[in-house]
Amino acid sequence: MDISVVIPLYNEEESLPELTEWIERVMSTHGFSYEIIFVNDGSTDGSMDVIRGLAARNPAIHSVAFSRNYGKSPALNTGFQRAKGDVVITMDADLQDSPDEIPELYRMITEDGYDLVSGWKKKRYDPLSKTIPTKLFNATARRVSGIKNLHDFNCGLKAYRKAVVKHIEVYGDMHRYIPYLAKNAGYKKIGEKVVQHQARKYGTTKFGLDRFVNGYLDLGTLWFQSKFGVKPMHIFGLLGSLMFMIGFLAVITVLVLKLVSMHSESYHFYLTKSVYFYLSLVFMVLGTQFFCTGFIGELIARNSPERNDYLISEEF
Ligand code: UDP
Ligand code: MG
Repeated sequence: MDISVVIPLYNEEESLPELTEWIERVMSTHGFSYEIIFVNDGSTDGSMDVIRGLAARNPAIHSVAFSRNYGKSPALNTGFQRAKGDVVITMDADLQDSPDEIPELYRMITEDGYDLVSGWKKKRYDPLSKTIPTKLFNATARRVSGIKNLHDFNCGLKAYRKAVVKHIEVYGDMHRYIPYLAKNAGYKKIGEKVVQHQARKYGTTKFGLDRFVNGYLDLGTLWFQSKFGVKPMHIFGLLGSLMFMIGFLAVITVLVLKLVSMHSESYHFYLTKSVYFYLSLVFMVLGTQFFCTGFIGELIARNSPERNDYLISEEF
C-alpha cells in the first residue's frame, strides 16, 4: 500500500463527505493504493454515521472511534499504530488542509528521501489572535528543538515515512511537536513544503487560547526529556552540588564569625541575625533535595522501557 491518510476528527460531520470525495479523487487520478483512517475522537455529533456511510461504499475507508474525547495526540497515535501504507499522511478533517498536496508530499518522502515533511501554511486564513502567538511559538520551538528549517511545527498536514510513525509515541498534547519527537527518535531528514490553507468552512476550532500556555509547558517537558530523560542526575546533581557548596560556604562563614565574636569583647555575633545563617539553611536543604530528586530520577530512568532505544542506521 502506498499511502495511509490518518484523519483525527472531533465533531466534523459537515466536512467529512467533501473531504473524502476530494481525497478519493486525488488518489484515483494518481493511481495510488491507499487507505483512509478516520480516528473519531469521541464526536458527539453525527460524524460516526457519516463515516459509516462513507465506508459502506469504499472499502479503503477505515475508522477507529474513541468512546470519549481524548485529544488530537491520542487520536493521531492510534491512527499511526494502524497505518499500513509506506507513506503516512495526516490531515485535519476541517477542510483547512488540501488533499491536492498529497502527491507532492508522497514524492518528497519516496524520492527526495525525507523522513518527515511538514506543511507550512505560509498564507494563513486564521484570526490575528492566533497567527501572532503562533509565530512566537514557532520561533521558540525552532530554537529549543534545534530544527531550524521549520516554520510551522503544528501544521496538521504532514507526511511521514512509515518507520517514523511506528517509532514515535504522540501523547498528551505533543502533536504540536511531532518533528521534535521524530528528531529525538533519530530521524534527521525533516523537510517542509508550503501548503495551501483555507479558512474553516464548517464548524468551529476545537482548541482555545490555552493551547499556547500548554504548548510552551510541553516544549519545556520535551526539552528536558531529550536532554536529561535518561540521565536526570546530570542536571539535579549539578544543581544540588552548587547549592550545597553555597550552603557550606555560608556555614563556614557563620562558624568563623561566631568564633571571632567569642574571643572578642567588643564584637557580638548573633547567629539568628546573620544573613549567612539563613543562606546556609536554605541552600543546604535545597541542595540535598536536588540530589535526592536526582537519585529518584535515576531509579525511574533505569526502569524506563525507552532507556535502550536507539535508532540504528546501519548494521552488518
Ligand atoms: N481534533 C481532534 N480532537 C480534539 C480536537 C481536535 O481530533 O480534541 C481534530 C479536529 O477535528 C481537526 C483537527 O484535530 O480535524 C484540528 O483541529 P482544529 O481544526 O479545531 O484546530 P485549528 O485548525 O484551529 O488549529
Ligand atoms: Mg482547523
